[in-house]
Amino acid sequence: MSSQFISYGKQCLDDSDIDAVCRVLRSDFLTQGPRVPAFESAVSSYVDARYSIAVNSATSALHIACLSLSLGQGDVMWTTPNTFVASANVGLLCGAEVDFVDIDPKTYNMSADALRAKLIIAKKNNRLPKIVIPVHFAGQSCDMKSIWELSQEFGFSIIEDASHAIGGDYLDGKIGNCKYAQITVFSFHPVKIITTAEGGLATTNSEELADKMKLFRSHGVTRETKFMGESHGPWYYEQVELGLNYRMTEMQAALGVSQMNSIDKFVEIRRKRATEYDNLLKNLEVKLPYQATDSVSAFHLYPIWVNPQIRGAIIQKMLNNKIGVNVHYIPVHTQPYYRKLGFKQGQFPESEKYYAGAMSLPLHPLLSDEDISRVVATLKKSF
Ligand SMILES: *Cc1c(COP(=O)(O)O)cnc(C)c1O
Repeated sequence: MSSQFISYGKQCLDDSDIDAVCRVLRSDFLTQGPRVPAFESAVSSYVDARYSIAVNSATSALHIACLSLSLGQGDVMWTTPNTFVASANVGLLCGAEVDFVDIDPKTYNMSADALRAKLIIAKKNNRLPKIVIPVHFAGQSCDMKSIWELSQEFGFSIIEDASHAIGGDYLDGKIGNCKYAQITVFSFHPVKIITTAEGGLATTNSEELADKMKLFRSHGVTRETKFMGESHGPWYYEQVELGLNYRMTEMQAALGVSQMNSIDKFVEIRRKRATEYDNLLKNLEVKLPYQATDSVSAFHLYPIWVNPQIRGAIIQKMLNNKIGVNVHYIPVHTQPYYRKLGFKQGQFPESEKYYAGAMSLPLHPLLSDEDISRVVATLKKSF
């Protein structure tokens, strides 16, 4: 019997998710109806943030987050090299200069110590960042308390890229409550914790930032009297910012509302599977994902680290046996586009060292006990 391909990540939909989308297709509103605000309320109350702005991707959410904080030409934005390219690209899209802060070799998250060291130098050079974007890698929160303290000392804003981390906790609150950030961003791509097909969302406790993000999401156009001059009549609107069309559809939002009913279950299953991997792999020559005591990871990824000399061969053997392992992430500064901007191999050594041995094992709610056994047995044989 030939076995099925096991992918590293996958959406988990049930009949109620599918019914929710079908109901929208039979309703009056495919866009700009009641489901987007309903999804925003659901996320706001789940993470305990005052405002949510749903958009068509996390990349869009990061972009309007940067725009609402007035990132532009002449400004500097910092993020981590161990992320998807979008976390860095949004800075360039705003016309800002982008730079990176190396990772903590234990958590693979942005190192607060490296951030402090870089801030001290940047202050001397009068090139402090306007925004820092820490990324909660694999679903585990960054050391936000330390990063927040640095933001107060050095005067920058924080956007948490929590694309991996909805459903996770940090200290005594949910990731996304913006206790240690101006804005937090989530992704709902199918491999993430919950899905809206494509989709993203920004949370904030600032009315001013929420208002701006709503404007940037929809052409910079408003019908709200508080933003406008004198109305010409009921048809009247004004463009007050240079915005985009980053709106989420009603089908996506309905799927999001329905998926929110399962979020705690999804995170629980992911965490249970991660613990199983921990136990089954502990005698193998691999570095297992470190778990900090101040947070509860949503476990978007289960990243292990193996000897870089054999990593490529192991991945090939896993793929040959239909186990969809993946690598997160190729350090962003080593991408050709960023090399053209002047970044060089060797500039962020911890990210590069991590990348050389990184491998993410399959982890999603639909994995069976047999799938986990097959992943582990194949990995053991691959050494
Ligand atoms: C997935 C992801 C993004 C981009 O999310 P989209 O919703 O696909 O735009 C950004 N940052 C990180 C860390 C991600 O994992």
